[in-house]
Amino acid sequence: MIQAYVGLGSNLNDPVRQVKTALAALHGIPETRCVRQSSLYRSAPLGPSDQPDYINAVAMLDTRLSARQLLTELQAIERIHGRVRGAERWGPRTLDLDILLYGEMRLESEELTVPHPRLAERSFVLYPLCEIAPDLEVHGLGGIRQLMAACRARDTLSCGVLA
Ligand code: ATP
Ligand code: MG
Ligand code: MG
Repeated sequence: MIQAYVGLGSNLNDPVRQVKTALAALHGIPETRCVRQSSLYRSAPLGPSDQPDYINAVAMLDTRLSARQLLTELQAIERIHGRVRGAERWGPRTLDLDILLYGEMRLESEELTVPHPRLAERSFVLYPLCEIAPDLEVHGLGGIRQLMAACRARDTLSCGVLA
């Protein structure tokens, strides 16, 4: 069993519903158990700013799937949620599911890079991650609390838990 963390994000077509149904869909991934999920968070958009705020969350999974198999399952869920990949990077989307961590695996390819390369600079990832795994050590990067404090100190993007 490998412990993996998945980041969820949506800013189109009722994002709260998108993230909630995506969390439910994670429970249906084969050979995988969704063991913990964060609250929902609202964050200002990254990249193009002429788009709605995002709803974000993070889930902790125990899985027997390989990292690539897990990515394939997540991309299938994205498609079911109507994800269309446009030309614009970081443009609005109905659902984004990213593998943040896959155990202690380090991998760098175009198809899959873990730990997620932009994890440490994103408050919308670190806040929910810290909620469900406050003692997590990110191999090579440090403790999640320190990452969060550093991110908060240079805070560029706002992020808060949804009431
Ligand atoms: P960002 O990676 O900055 O969060 P994004 O999530 O908007 O950007 P996508 O359009 O969802 O990017 O994905 C682009 C490609 O990234 C995908 O085709 C996928 O193969 C690849 N990818 C690389 N590493 C990962 C990862 N850890 N999780 C999900 N996709 C990844
Ligand atoms: Mg992403
Ligand atoms: Mg993605």
